[in-house]
Amino acid sequence: MSSQTTYRELNGVECGKALRVRIAEAAERIGKKRGRTPHLAAVLVGEDPASQTYVGSKVRACAEVGFRSSLLKQPADITEAALLALVERLNNDPEVDGFIVQLPLPKHINEERVTLSIAPGKDVDGFHPQNLGRMMLGLPGYLPATPNGIVELLKHYEVPTEGKHCVVVGRSNIVGTPMAILMSRNSNPGNCTVTLAHSRTKDLPAITRQADILIVAIGKPGFITAAMVKQGAVVVDVGIHRLADASRKSGYRIAGDVDFDAIAPKCSWITPVPGGVGPMTVTSLLLNTLKAAEG
Ligand code: NDP
Repeated sequence: MSSQTTYRELNGVECGKALRVRIAEAAERIGKKRGRTPHLAAVLVGEDPASQTYVGSKVRACAEVGFRSSLLKQPADITEAALLALVERLNNDPEVDGFIVQLPLPKHINEERVTLSIAPGKDVDGFHPQNLGRMMLGLPGYLPATPNGIVELLKHYEVPTEGKHCVVVGRSNIVGTPMAILMSRNSNPGNCTVTLAHSRTKDLPAITRQADILIVAIGKPGFITAAMVKQGAVVVDVGIHRLADASRKSGYRIAGDVDFDAIAPKCSWITPVPGGVGPMTVTSLLLNTLKAAEG
């Protein structure tokens, strides 16, 4: 008997489109009510190509749903004091509903200090400890964009999560750790029994093979192989890597943390890369900005 299943894609482009229709309708309602549409500002420091791509897609997404956006490009050698002053200006600008400071920042700037200086009410990335604490307690606030985007994706495709064993690989503050909390909440999606794995986890393959839902955010291309995945699992790949590929016109291809071609036939559901988690992160940022504009 073949162990191959027909997998379905957790398609972030399709799901994002559906959500963005609703966001655009809400933006129009807000615009009519208060005389100005939701406004997202994005601070981009330096010329990092990946950051430029991410911020570019956020700005385009704003235009798509009728939000105003402002891209505030800063030189790579901006001082920390000048960046903090810019954050303060945005904190106090009544025309800006929410803003992000694209990470990573140049080495001479303390990222933690910058994140802490963002007013929690405008922190639409959901990285401020106050928002992370509110998430932890199940109180209203801004949820971190990538984990919340994944929750929205699972919700859209009605993937059952209750009682499932969810293994999250990676414990970063912006993806893995909040993801583990959201999947363990008493909600739908949620109600999973969660294992949070990281670089010190012993015998990772034995752990990942237990996952009904496997969420991977480690930043290593193709790290998760077919032997690490249970038959019928739901696999969510957060990783994004630009790999050199001479066969492509662009000279590169985008890959994730999981070996998609080998793993997909074992899965019930899997995210493609690109077109899975990435578009949902952007959509989630729009949802937070909408929330900020709604007050
Ligand atoms: P970080 O580098 O901050 O964290 C990586 C995590 O993976 C750490 O917790 C680390 O463990 C763990 N890890 C590293 N190696 C191993 C290993 N061999 N076995 C088990 N765990 C390991 O990454 P991020 O969370 O910021 O991002 C992860 C990936 O997701 C990146 O590729 C990034 O580009 C991508 N990303 C994609 C987004 C999207 O919208 N699609 C958004 C954000 C990120 P330890 O803590 O022990 O060091």
